Amino acid sequence: MKDFDYIIFGGGCAGLSLAYELEIHKKLENKTLAIIEPRSEYKRDKTWSFWKIIPHNFEDCVKKSWENFSINILSQSKHLECNSFPYQTIDSGLFYEKINNKLKKNKKISFFKNINDINVNSSIIFNSVPELNDDKNKLWQHFCGVEIETKNNFFDESIFNLMDFDCDQRDSVHFFYTLPFEKNKALVETTWLSKINNESIKDYDIQIKNYIENQLNIKNYKIKYKEQGAIPLFYPSNIKEKNKINIGTAGGMTRLSTGYTFLNIQEHSKYIRENIDNIANTKTFEINKKYKFLDKIFLSVLKKNPEKMPNIFFKMFDGSANTVIKFLSNKSNIIEDFSIILKMPKWIFIKALFKK
Ligand SMILES: Cc1cc2nc3c(=O)[nH]c(=O)nc-3n(C[C@H](O)[C@H](O)[C@H](O)COP(=O)(O)OP(=O)(O)OC[C@H]3O[C@@H](n4cnc5c(N)ncnc54)[C@H](O)[C@@H]3O)c2cc1C
Repeated sequence: MKDFDYIIFGGGCAGLSLAYELEIHKKLENKTLAIIEPRSEYKRDKTWSFWKIIPHNFEDCVKKSWENFSINILSQSKHLECNSFPYQTIDSGLFYEKINNKLKKNKKISFFKNINDINVNSSIIFNSVPELNDDKNKLWQHFCGVEIETKNNFFDESIFNLMDFDCDQRDSVHFFYTLPFEKNKALVETTWLSKINNESIKDYDIQIKNYIENQLNIKNYKIKYKEQGAIPLFYPSNIKEKNKINIGTAGGMTRLSTGYTFLNIQEHSKYIRENIDNIANTKTFEINKKYKFLDKIFLSVLKKNPEKMPNIFFKMFDGSANTVIKFLSNKSNIIEDFSIILKMPKWIFIKALFKK
């Protein structure tokens, strides 16, 4: 069996982002790389969105970018601007195609379906396959979205809706998320923050149909694409070893209060590329500990007080949207952190702090 300098275990978002980052910065010129990925074909399966707070390699895969967004709770709506940090959506189909076309040109990069097909003993392994134990008490962000095309122009494509809490909460936290790509095309997603074993809230198709037809009042439309997923709002149990570096979800790149992971993966790829020559002895890259601490309290409040969350999210966006965006994107300073903390209901957060 063949030996490789580097192995990327899992050719999804993190694995391919890292391979691309290494390739375009010529870090693979004298090295061999094996990418292990079981899927038989790459096609669009996810819509990655984020506030563009740092540069990234995938501007040409951006499907749409917005400078305005809204948030709704029952009978109230807030309109916010994000022109300093536009909200971008990446089409995963374009992302996979761009990266695979580039990687296939390098003869030192090989693709395998199974790790047992190669020798792993002398390689540095970048692992993106998360170990998720089946703890029924843990919180997940789970969702289902459809891209619809309407017969008549309906959407204002200049503004997206980040969260619409004006919907059935069923003792959990539930909102709809709408990304209008064109006047007659949008992704409409039903999103839940809850334990994953609650089957009573997984009638996603009915929820989406009701929302489109009764809330948005669209009767004439076709479904063009569908995606479904679940993001763990806890850290997988993958352990760092000397020659094994965890990346992506497995590497703790998800911001637990929001599920945002894509830009953290890009920052991590850059960090690995900058330190690749001594990566086994380089400090592990992680999301700043202050966010881990604050997110833990936030999720503890969410678990105990789901009915309070629509108002808490709504209130968070009082004042400067830029401050909240920086906070949610791990780029806020201490003053900005405090301005967010001060908007939270004091007593339930203090209780959560002492009862963790
Ligand atoms: C539908 C969906 C939408 C999302 N939207 C957003 C978003 O808008 N913004 C955001 O920031 N984050 C989003 N996320 C979260 C996160 O960005 C994605 O989950 C992202 O794909 C994580 O990258 P990853 O490489 O860790 O995992 P993946 O992209 O899932 O890659 C893991 C890879 O490992 C492969 N694999 C699995 N088992 C094995 C095995 N045994 N051996 C080898 N390979 C294996 C899989 O086939 C997969 O290709 C979304 C997640 C989902 C599921």
